[in-house]
Amino acid sequence: MIRTVKKKFDVAVIGGGPGGLSAAITAAREGAKVILVERSAALGGAAASGLGILGYLDSHGRKSLGGLAQEYIDRLEKNRGAIGHYRCPVHNSITPVAPDMFKIVATEMCLEAGVELLFNCELIDVKIENGRVVQAAVYGKCTRIEIDADVFVDGTGDGDLAYLAGAEYISGQDDTGIMQPATLVFTITGYDLPRFFEYIEKNPDECGIKEDYAEGYNLDFFRSTKGHCFIGLNKLVRKAKEAGEFDVPRNQFIYIRTPDDVQLAINTVRIINIDASDPFELSKGITEGYMQIQQLMNFMHKYVPGFENCRITQIAPTLGIRETRHFIGKKRLVKEEMFNYVNDEDSIALCAYNVDIHSGTSDHIDLGRLDRPFGIPYGCLVPVSIDGLLLSGRTISVDSTVFGAARVMGPLIAAGEAAGIAAAICVKRNISPADVPVADIREILIKNGAILSV
Ligand SMILES: Cc1cc2nc3c(=O)[nH]c(=O)nc-3n(C[C@H](O)[C@H](O)[C@H](O)COP(=O)(O)OP(=O)(O)OC[C@H]3O[C@@H](n4cnc5c(N)ncnc54)[C@H](O)[C@@H]3O)c2cc1C
Repeated sequence: MIRTVKKKFDVAVIGGGPGGLSAAITAAREGAKVILVERSAALGGAAASGLGILGYLDSHGRKSLGGLAQEYIDRLEKNRGAIGHYRCPVHNSITPVAPDMFKIVATEMCLEAGVELLFNCELIDVKIENGRVVQAAVYGKCTRIEIDADVFVDGTGDGDLAYLAGAEYISGQDDTGIMQPATLVFTITGYDLPRFFEYIEKNPDECGIKEDYAEGYNLDFFRSTKGHCFIGLNKLVRKAKEAGEFDVPRNQFIYIRTPDDVQLAINTVRIINIDASDPFELSKGITEGYMQIQQLMNFMHKYVPGFENCRITQIAPTLGIRETRHFIGKKRLVKEEMFNYVNDEDSIALCAYNVDIHSGTSDHIDLGRLDRPFGIPYGCLVPVSIDGLLLSGRTISVDSTVFGAARVMGPLIAAGEAAGIAAAICVKRNISPADVPVADIREILIKNGAILSV
């Protein structure tokens, strides 16, 4: 028989990725009694997959994230799990993080802050009273845990909590509903980068980004920049496709350096035409992800100089989902007014990444360079129709273009820090998220070292 356990917290955060984790740590540091529920056995979400964090520096190399976002990197560096921020002509900056060390540091920071952690539990139900979320039920190990809280934070990525609460949302991209593709990220070892670079030296057109802004995205950059993301090999991919040995709907190969000299993250799997908020489609995507990894390993072994003997070290524990539901907040940031919130008193985080939209139906990627960061207003974190709830992570209320930039981990960590502060203020003052004065959130953010103006 399923047993039922009841718990009471000030703040309940569901989902321990960059958004939820950051909100949980910050709310607890601000004095709230916090529980963080995570369906897997690790904190970090996509930050624990091998991907580098984007958004620390803008296109001019100016620092755009401080506070908790910088603290993660400082603590990782002390544990040999990060090597600083690296400028990039295409991505503005890349901050490599060691996936497993991120899980450990995140856990340590939660423990220090006094966050109660509940692993391997998944949200199953939400109770609403008078338009306000009052309880979230989660399930794990034959146990239903009913969590009452003053404030709930949705850090599930797909917005499972907000969805069950009945918050308004748009599925996929505005107008089309198409969702950016999913990717099963994996890490490899046993490769030989100097040999790979010799191949690129003889085939410079194999550096895949040809646009003007990518000037400098070349072999010298890859050789001299420890933290880089390589995109290219169009010729080899074409050759493998012609031989019937590359079905992945991509025309390029992508790897990302981790802080470790002997581990690369491969971000080349591409699963199109799925809605990962549907469990059957999600499972189909995961299945396809494993099959694509098999094909990519064969591709590297057979076609890519320097990768003939590479081996898998880890496959990310969950399928990386770029896009599913977008919730409607008190404020919905749209592209026309994207820059209105730089240095604005409503802004709680800066986004210094570019507008990067992966096609959900083909191999195309649209990259729109942004010359400077934009601000994310607090209202994007507050769902319009449901009280007692804050959005943290990729569920925040923005249109498809803004989402192309704001979806990356750096700005989501910064916005998550603000969500945690807001949640703690709600508890202290017994007010709703919609009534928290933004100036009070900003004051604490600034005290914590966050960067809110450029
Ligand atoms: C393939 C891929 C490549 C990307 N590349 C980069 C990159 O290089 N750099 C970058 O900065 N950003 C990148 N992004 C974007 C970025 O990783 C995500 O947008 C970001 O991680 C979203 O943060 P989040 O906290 O909302 O969600 P997630 O990171 O997905 O975390 C959500 C967490 O909630 C948990 N969860 C989900 N549902 C439930 C539930 N019902 N109950 C309990 N727990 C739940 C999950 O297990 C997970 O731990 C990439 C995204 C993808 C998919």
